[in-house]
Amino acid sequence: MSVVGFDFGNESCVVAVARQRGIDVVLNDESKRETPAIVCFGEKQRFIGTAGAASTMMNPVNSISQIKRLIGRQFSDPELQRDLKSFPCLVTEGPDGYPLIHVRYLGESKTFTPTQVLGMLFSDLKGIAEKNLKAAVVDCCIGIPVYFTDLQRRAVLDAATIVGLHPLQLIHETTATALAYGIYKSDLPENDQLNVAFIDIGHSSLQVCIAGFKKGQLKILAHSYDRNLGGRDFDEVLFQHFAAKFKEEYKIDVFQSARACLRLRAGCEKLKKILSANPEAPLHVECLMDDKDVRGFIKREDFERISAPILERVKRPLEKALADAALSVENVHMVEVVGSGSRVPAVGKILTEFFGKELRHTMNASECVAKGCALQCAILSPTFKVRDFQVNESFPFSIGLTWKAADSPNGGAEGQQGTVVFPKGNRIPSVKALTFFRSNTFTVDVHYADVGDSPYPAKISTYTIGPFHCTKGERGKVKLKVRLNLHGIVSIESAALLEEEEVEVPVTEHSVNEGDEMDTDEASAGPTPSSSHDAGADASGVENRAPESGDKTAHMDINTNAPKKNVKKINIPVAEFISGGLLPLDLQKAVEKEFEMALQDRIMEETKDKKNAVEAYVYDMRNKLNDKYYEFVTNSEREDFINKLQDVEDWLYDEGEDETKGVYVSKLEELKKRGDPVEVRYKEHMERGTVMSQLIY
Ligand code: ATP
Ligand code: MG
Repeated sequence: MSVVGFDFGNESCVVAVARQRGIDVVLNDESKRETPAIVCFGEKQRFIGTAGAASTMMNPVNSISQIKRLIGRQFSDPELQRDLKSFPCLVTEGPDGYPLIHVRYLGESKTFTPTQVLGMLFSDLKGIAEKNLKAAVVDCCIGIPVYFTDLQRRAVLDAATIVGLHPLQLIHETTATALAYGIYKSDLPENDQLNVAFIDIGHSSLQVCIAGFKKGQLKILAHSYDRNLGGRDFDEVLFQHFAAKFKEEYKIDVFQSARACLRLRAGCEKLKKILSANPEAPLHVECLMDDKDVRGFIKREDFERISAPILERVKRPLEKALADAALSVENVHMVEVVGSGSRVPAVGKILTEFFGKELRHTMNASECVAKGCALQCAILSPTFKVRDFQVNESFPFSIGLTWKAADSPNGGAEGQQGTVVFPKGNRIPSVKALTFFRSNTFTVDVHYADVGDSPYPAKISTYTIGPFHCTKGERGKVKLKVRLNLHGIVSIESAALLEEEEVEVPVTEHSVNEGDEMDTDEASAGPTPSSSHDAGADASGVENRAPESGDKTAHMDINTNAPKKNVKKINIPVAEFISGGLLPLDLQKAVEKEFEMALQDRIMEETKDKKNAVEAYVYDMRNKLNDKYYEFVTNSEREDFINKLQDVEDWLYDEGEDETKGVYVSKLEELKKRGDPVEVRYKEHMERGTVMSQLIY
């Protein structure tokens, strides 16, 4: 079974695999440790990853980057709208309110969903892992930003499913980093707690996580973030600065050309990197537009001045993390900085000033997330024995449930009731139970309940509970089981009607009772759910059930001395509706479509290989005919063959440039028909030669 970790960045991705001797970051086809997160659609095939990056400049409007920004977002999402302004390709609103990406592919206009495109990227990363492990990769852990919404998390899972991956866990990137940091540390305190702040500044966002370490475990004390503050924002500041400057100095408007925008942005990113190590840096782009070469120059202090609005925002998530962890800066013992966006010196300065201590760079800034993901996969997989290390994860949002009061059938705002099921900071995973008193089918909405800071949109899903029929009384007692799973995805997993009935048999520990519904795949209990107050006509008591605590009998609320009553549990259907989620049928279609496209890519790669083989044969045979095969052909035979080789070479650069695989295969066979007898003659001679020399010897 595969044990693999994927870090899919907004700019670049890293793949790590577990081997018996430890965790390794693996190289892609170009022997690079980082793979660009780009999918480029061509006339005959797709180019993904490093190949995608290579095709981008030639084909910018069909190259999709920043896929992480697109997935699981509604078209109307203000952040998406802002991002789209600098997207080179056309993105429109689909009938379901979600974005559709328009590209030219195989000579036709096509549209793809962001989830499909993420699937394509995953297929490339999966291929990198498979090539390295020389085995199929299915099980994996995938890193995701802590701020990913329920829908974004579901979209990542769907994208993985499309390409045959099975994520054992979507793990928060900063938690993966904390795990990779802590698991190898042999000097963690037994009793005290070592508090470490991890700050990851990537391409488009900033994430902070404060973790408390003890021997054999880590506990996430706080997560915070700025979804819109990353390395690319510095590029944008420089880009706007130089776009305005060049308009004035060179009279060119880069905004009129997707390619010019792309090239100037790339130039600015390079400039920014030079500024990280130098007090000033030049910018030079040849033929940017209208055949004009442009030149610019900026000092680091000027760069910092124009970046002030971005730099000012760095402190906010730091303050938030401290407040949520209820820690003062003195109690943060170490500050580890990761993510390549953190290399901007001005950012480092702000972090150092804020924490009042030197920053540490113990971790490999670009690889720690992938390594942490692979470690988590190893922990979850039976394939490897990993040292015991417990990760206590915390959920970054508050999740609430709302429903209409039972006695206000016509609804209206006044009839709306609700509760927070998983408050911010809740453990992941977690299961809770809610009790309702209802006579027939009802609906429950799941939504974010964060005051003033809810993700967009606040609503997550709607569940229809029913139909059911109460045999006893007007209203039945309905228990919902709500799960926050390992991926940080929330769902109403099941519903049951609980009816008391008189029984003859004495009650034993194994009898069916109210709590039994929890005794499925995880242990129930935790705090005894005496708080399960089902008072009143409506819901709800929320029972807190930490799946890890294992006292299975703690909530047996039937006393053996009580009257002989039993509780009958009748399962009720639960229908889930998630706006923007992929239906199983659509997912199946996406799987088939991806399979077709992957096949086309493979055919094209094989065609290229066969064409190269013909070309290589021409060169090789020509050389040999003039060299070691010289004496094994007559002069006219040689001349004839060399002419034939020349014809094939000319054909390759002319009408044979763009042929099918079969044509190249038969062309090679045709040449070999002539070449093979020569080769045989030569080989026979050589063998005779050795035999003779052996005899003589
Ligand atoms: P994310 O984590 O946001 O999804 P990512 O993981 O792809 O994105 P990283 O690879 O951590 O992001 O960081 C990429 C950013 O780091 C880019 O904006 C890049 O320009 C920036 N960067 C890389 N090297 C340097 C450098 N030497 N100086 C300044 N910035 C740099
Ligand atoms: Mg990253």
